[in-house]
Amino acid sequence: MVARRLQSLSGSGAVAAAAIGAIAVVAGWSWGVVLIAYFVAASVLSRFRASEKESRTGGRLEKGGARDAAQVLANGAIFALAAIGSATSPDPMWQALGAGALAASAADTWATEIGTLGRAAPRSILDWSPVAVGTSGGVTAIGFAGGVAGAASIALVTWLVGWSRIATVAALIGGVVGCVLDSAIGASLQARRWCAACGMATEQRLHGCGSPTTVTGGLRWLDNDGVNALSTVAGALFGATGARYF
Ligand SMILES: [Zn+2]
Repeated sequence: MVARRLQSLSGSGAVAAAAIGAIAVVAGWSWGVVLIAYFVAASVLSRFRASEKESRTGGRLEKGGARDAAQVLANGAIFALAAIGSATSPDPMWQALGAGALAASAADTWATEIGTLGRAAPRSILDWSPVAVGTSGGVTAIGFAGGVAGAASIALVTWLVGWSRIATVAALIGGVVGCVLDSAIGASLQARRWCAACGMATEQRLHGCGSPTTVTGGLRWLDNDGVNALSTVAGALFGATGARYF
């Protein structure tokens, strides 16, 4: 309700977040604490110098401001599934899967929010060509550092709430791997759209100017939420698998 009041969540986003939060605490209060820490940090970062970031990305990003249900589920569904797994058949591996998934989401958010504020010009993660600020798959050193910090923030919280050590390691590995994959998929498979009225690339189906956009590349059905969902799956699997070696 606080997030809704602060307009960090839309109406549908608040319902989805409440559902994911309720599922999480079934696995134990620590799951709720990890989820809330993730959400508060992401919301604060999104708000920090928001108008400056908005003017830099200039209507390229798919969504801004209040998170809707699709965004909440894309970022939180794997974490909720891991919580259900943990509640039904307790095993530290569920914490590792959940931490890896949430860290991938945190890393992507932190990388985007911090990278957009950086002065460096982003380059495509695929061919290193210069791209406009706010382009999916565009990366900078400061953005990458932000992503690592985001992954570390989840690792820190899992450690503070006393989760198993593999969960903390999974957050670090899953966060960084998920963040890099998010950029790579965003640069390649994600639908690229074009607003003919403004003559600019965008992720929005209906551009901020009011004109519908056309798909110029990538997979038509794969939007930013889909890419985020894929990167949380990758974060869970790579994080939990990698953590077994530590
Ligand atoms: Zn337009």
